[in-house]
Amino acid sequence: MRQEQKFFGSFFRERTAFYIGSEIYRRSTYGGKHPLAVPRVSTTTDLCRAMGWLPDDVFVEAPMATDAQVTRFHHPDYIAALRRAEASQTVSDEDRTRFRIGADGNPIFAEIYRRPMTGAGGILRAAALCADGGIVFCPGGGTHHGRPDRAAGFCYLNDPVLGILALLDQGLFRIAYLDIDAHHGDGVQDAFHHDKRVLTLSIHESGRWPRTGAAADRAGGMARNFPVPQGFNDTEMRHLMDHAVLPMIDQFRPQAIFLQCGADALEEDPLSRLALSNNAHIAVVEAVMTRAPRLLVTGGGGYNPYTVARCWAAVWATLNHIPIPSHTTPAAGAVLRGLTYNRAAGRNPPAHWFDSLRDAPREGMVRPEITALAAAALKDA
Ligand SMILES: [Zn+2]
Repeated sequence: MRQEQKFFGSFFRERTAFYIGSEIYRRSTYGGKHPLAVPRVSTTTDLCRAMGWLPDDVFVEAPMATDAQVTRFHHPDYIAALRRAEASQTVSDEDRTRFRIGADGNPIFAEIYRRPMTGAGGILRAAALCADGGIVFCPGGGTHHGRPDRAAGFCYLNDPVLGILALLDQGLFRIAYLDIDAHHGDGVQDAFHHDKRVLTLSIHESGRWPRTGAAADRAGGMARNFPVPQGFNDTEMRHLMDHAVLPMIDQFRPQAIFLQCGADALEEDPLSRLALSNNAHIAVVEAVMTRAPRLLVTGGGGYNPYTVARCWAAVWATLNHIPIPSHTTPAAGAVLRGLTYNRAAGRNPPAHWFDSLRDAPREGMVRPEITALAAAALKDA
């Protein structure tokens, strides 16, 4: 294994990482009061460009997926309903009830069909780009709650599932999916419930929506869940990675790793009560980079535009072995200063949201429930 990691390590140093983006994220919003009213992907892209980290030759415009590509997983009636909702900007009672569009926090918005189809097209492009090995970052992806026939948790389509299916289509048969979003990666786990080719690992806040992903839930053996308590810190993340997640990934010997790198487990995120700094996300990226010849990294949740964009820009730097400087460039600072954030914290943003990309580390005690989670995951593995 050590030999293999050394090989992948040198392999990755010579490979270019690709960044998949789209201008659709700049103008699209879920609506004024929705947590996804904030710009995230476009801010990340602007920030990476302003730092000088995103030359044109590694930026790939996400194409829209075709209906045929997404009906591999999603029901054709559901895709047709999304198309109808975009065209009419309204939804029938029947479509709302059946597909949860315009319900449960899944609003009707201007790009309700094109935006998720762009997310899906982006991940399919990402899977193709790393067919022979490599790294692709797709910050618009990571919609891990999407179901075959309904919207869930602000997710309309499930791009991680579509991306993993594309990797399986390439003939790969050991794919590790690691989800560090604050919410359980339920849609992905359920999609591969019976598939021995896909190992799904999810670290998420205990007791938070969708309230699935208990430690005992192993989905037929190919899932491990780490429901962590409020206040989960960087030290605890490192403990789970070193004592459970990474040993499991090494044992599985994945041909590809899919990292759902949601940014809502950061301390300053309004939708969770976890307390990570973005150093935790950077460390997870560094750890998975040397463990498989193919790496797909997506975004996911994240509802504070400052902390999301700083985190994902730092992730992109890490994927490119770029050292993260202690201060943002003036142009990058201007990108961050240009944001508006209609929450209490946004009225008086702290200076480090503009001036730095890396957070101060949030180390702490490793609580007994964390050591117990790590130990339990390895039992009978
Ligand atoms: Zn989330």
